[in-house]
Amino acid sequence: ADSAAQAVKRGGGNGFAFFEAHMQDGVRDQLELARDLRAALEDGGAGQLSLHYQPKVAGDTQRVLGVEALLRWQHPKRGAIGPATFIPVAERFGIIIALGDWVIDEACRQVAEWRDQGLRLRVAINLSVQQLRQPEALLQRLQHALQRNGMDASQLSLEITESVAMEDAGATERTLQRLGALGVSLSIDDFGTGYSSLSYLRRLPVSQLKIDRSFIQDLETSADARAIVKAVIELAHALGLEVVAEGVETTGQAAELRAKRCDKLQGYLFARPMPAAELVHWARRSQAPRGCETAP
Ligand code: C2E
Ligand code: MG
Ligand code: MG
Ligand code: MG
Repeated sequence: ADSAAQAVKRGGGNGFAFFEAHMQDGVRDQLELARDLRAALEDGGAGQLSLHYQPKVAGDTQRVLGVEALLRWQHPKRGAIGPATFIPVAERFGIIIALGDWVIDEACRQVAEWRDQGLRLRVAINLSVQQLRQPEALLQRLQHALQRNGMDASQLSLEITESVAMEDAGATERTLQRLGALGVSLSIDDFGTGYSSLSYLRRLPVSQLKIDRSFIQDLETSADARAIVKAVIELAHALGLEVVAEGVETTGQAAELRAKRCDKLQGYLFARPMPAAELVHWARRSQAPRGCETAP
């Protein structure tokens, strides 16, 4: 895979064709994706990359409190490819830093544009483990993006999955401390799927836990899932953290979460991830005073 990655770095050509002949389909597929992704990035996204935004709404009032940026890739030949497919490719072939930088710049640019349109929204960005392993570059990139867009650091939050946060605990803790000092807020994503130690969690400067979708999905059918969700919410509140439930799809799940005092809800029940322009309309509709929603 190393020589394959080298071939991609050289940008294809004869070297690439040589390796291609020796490769299995899956690997060749990944190499092609890596090459195409690199080309799109070198062209500033090339109109292929975009961010979609999914609202996080208040548990009690359903007002939108912020959005999560989710990366989308419209491949010129293959059509839409999901992040679950191309993020691992980007990580494997050394493209994730450039891709993550693109996301940081684009999300901050978008927040500034919304602000200029009179819409104040906080945005959350998902971080890859490799971005955390290069804290200098990450901090600099974030600082520049905030400055360039006249953004306050408090408008930005960073989502880190629980498994990433628990890996290499010492280094991660130091990096998160520095990110926290910058003023951005930190959120533990997919919580409940990893194995965090509570004493470690307590030391991290995080302000939010996001309960993994798998528990939310089972809320109505599994007593275990209900017990876990209840325990996570109580634990988070006891530690002074805010809790978000991800992947809320039904009114039954939402009711259960509200009864358990979950602070924020996110999921298809409220809104799917959507392009920035659509989000503006969605936010205006959902923020409209009651009684106006049904006006002609
Ligand atoms: P995540 O951060 O846990 O994001 C939640 C995923 O669940 C998103 O999938 C979202 O579209 C989906 N989702 C939201 N509500 C619902 C729901 O009610 N039901 C169901 N079934 N799904 C829901 P998506 O956009 O495909 O992203 C998948 C993962 O890819 C993300 O998981 C995140 O880990 C990663 N990812 C996305 N964008 C980026 C990025 O810019 N950088 C990095 N490093 N990773 C990203
Ligand atoms: Mg996330
Ligand atoms: Mg998540
Ligand atoms: Mg997830």
